[in-house]
Amino acid sequence: MLIILLGPPGAGKGTQAEKITNDHNLAYISTGDILRSAVRENKELGRKARQYMDEGKLVPDDLVVEIVKDRLLNPDCRNGALFDGFPRTVEQAVFLENALPDLDVKIDRVLSVEVEESELIERLTGRRVCSDCGANYHLKFKPPKVRNVCDQCGGDLYQRDDDSLETVKERLEVYKKQTQPLIEFYQKRGLLSPIDGNQEIEDVYKQISSILGEL
Ligand code: ADP
Ligand code: AMP
Repeated sequence: MLIILLGPPGAGKGTQAEKITNDHNLAYISTGDILRSAVRENKELGRKARQYMDEGKLVPDDLVVEIVKDRLLNPDCRNGALFDGFPRTVEQAVFLENALPDLDVKIDRVLSVEVEESELIERLTGRRVCSDCGANYHLKFKPPKVRNVCDQCGGDLYQRDDDSLETVKERLEVYKKQTQPLIEFYQKRGLLSPIDGNQEIEDVYKQISSILGEL
């Protein structure tokens, strides 16, 4: 099974991805996570990507496509995979479409998580992430039991550099210009399922589960 989570930054893709991958035993492919760890480890990829990420811009397609090519060959993808934050441009979507037949895989569904812009800003600026295991929290909507401490592993929580208000606004503009056209791209291919992401986390997941249950 191959599922794509599409939606603006802050829509809740990572939050839902954790539940979907657990329940459906899918490999999790987040290009954002892969890029952030390359930056942290000061790899060549990270050095090339860092400035774009800090400015809220998209990393060039050729770098991202290389990440995905590599990742799809990992044995954990044999049972299927969930993409979070990829594709983000029409060029990336075309690459994926052309690469899949060789791997004998097809896209089963594109879940397009839709959320109001004011809500996205509140979600992103209040997001906190565990520095050890990457678990996601929100100061108001999903607070940890102990302030700044991860419920799952006890790690310290931090705020992503690109979750500042200024960079969030840029990322939302970039989404509208470069990623939103993918909604039509996948609609035309009959693969798109819109998801109302304005609801509570569990209610969003119920909607996703019922769609995945029909596949
Ligand atoms: P994305 O991966 O799409 O950028 P995240 O899953 O990281 O988004 O969610 C962004 C922030 O919003 C996180 O702090 C998360 O805890 C919170 N969040 C996610 N889904 C919801 C929801 N349905 N209602 C309220 N807050 C949410
Ligand atoms: P995310 O964790 O998905 O919010 O991504 C964080 C940042 O990583 C983005 O703002 C981009 O700079 C970069 N990034 C992640 N995925 C992609 C992608 N598919 N294409 C281009 N840039 C990406």
